[in-house]
Amino acid sequence: MKKEISKVFEERFGGSGVFYASAGRINLIGEHTDYNGGFVFPGAIDKVIMAEIRPNDTMTVRVFSIDINEYAEFGLNEADAPSQSWARYIFGVCREILKRGGTVRGFDAVFAGNVPLGAGLSSSAALESCFAFALNDMFNDNRIDKFELARIGQSTEHNYCGVNCGIMDQFASVFGKEGKLMRLDCRSMEYEYFPFHPEDYELVLVDSVVKHELADSPYNKRRESCERVAHRLGLETLRDADMAMLEAVKSDITAEDYFRAKFVIEEKQRVLDVCDALNRGDYDTVGRKMYETHAGLSKDYEVSCEELDFLNDVARECGVTGSRIMGGGFGGCTINLVRKDLRDKFVETAVAKFTEKYGHAPKIYDVVISDGARRLD
Ligand code: ADP
Ligand code: MG
Repeated sequence: MKKEISKVFEERFGGSGVFYASAGRINLIGEHTDYNGGFVFPGAIDKVIMAEIRPNDTMTVRVFSIDINEYAEFGLNEADAPSQSWARYIFGVCREILKRGGTVRGFDAVFAGNVPLGAGLSSSAALESCFAFALNDMFNDNRIDKFELARIGQSTEHNYCGVNCGIMDQFASVFGKEGKLMRLDCRSMEYEYFPFHPEDYELVLVDSVVKHELADSPYNKRRESCERVAHRLGLETLRDADMAMLEAVKSDITAEDYFRAKFVIEEKQRVLDVCDALNRGDYDTVGRKMYETHAGLSKDYEVSCEELDFLNDVARECGVTGSRIMGGGFGGCTINLVRKDLRDKFVETAVAKFTEKYGHAPKIYDVVISDGARRLD
């Protein structure tokens, strides 16, 4: 990828610039916990956006996307927003840095990536973090702290791309480290690294390539359920609830709200249990918790779908250590913790069975927990 970028940069702009990269991410466990003040547990992966960048002594940004094979040129004022959606991620990052009093001047850039787009691995966060990190290094002597870089990416999604996302994706992309997962407390924003060295295991994503629910309505309904139960318990969020508290109000709330809250309370504990297990190197427990999360998302939170439940069943039948929906649900990927000696057989079986049943093949992504945003020398 670096060679190709370098060649295109030389052809388009002449000479060379500095290379930066940032990564996509997975979330091992901790789903629908962010808006409940709970924990998420992401890590950066070995799929990146990479850019070669050089200041051009003007106030114009000139950037070429190798993968989309398009060029964009824009100024740095609010009115200069480019029309191409991919360029708006970069424009947004520039604007959000400027809004915070940072410096951005014109630059030339060429970039490419291998984070699959729209597969739930957050290619957009990788793109934002790559440029946020680069512009901080290039124009701001790295004065902007890493959390703010993540927020710059998040604000870019909100203000320039129409995506009302949380902070996890950008956080993971900026803070990711090889062999480490990060437990982020979505209430306090404190975080802690945990070792992830699954020597005998691999992480394999199986992308169902389906998306069932349009619009945000099921998501908003889940949120409302959680808020109602928290309110009934006199709490700000379900973060502070436990099962005894929930049981005590069971007769006052709907069965649906009860099961939604039950999932959230149990999921918070599962993240903590997985962290303990990783500290012991106990990957069997990690896997078991992943299956429990899947069951909770499917039966209590009701955000799964037929295809994802099918993939989860196939994983179990194959003897995969852990498997669950990754992301909000209603489609997308399962994340699987698979013993290395089982990986090929599992992938073959999952592809064959899924294709037979649904008429299209799932996509397979092997991922390794790797470094996040960085300068490449
Ligand atoms: P994801 O779940 O992968 O983040 P999004 O829809 O949020 O999916 O972001 C995908 C968008 O990010 C693409 O439509 C494109 O605008 C931009 N993008 C991601 N990767 C690349 C890339 N390699 N080259 C150009 N643009 C990219
Ligand atoms: Mg995205």
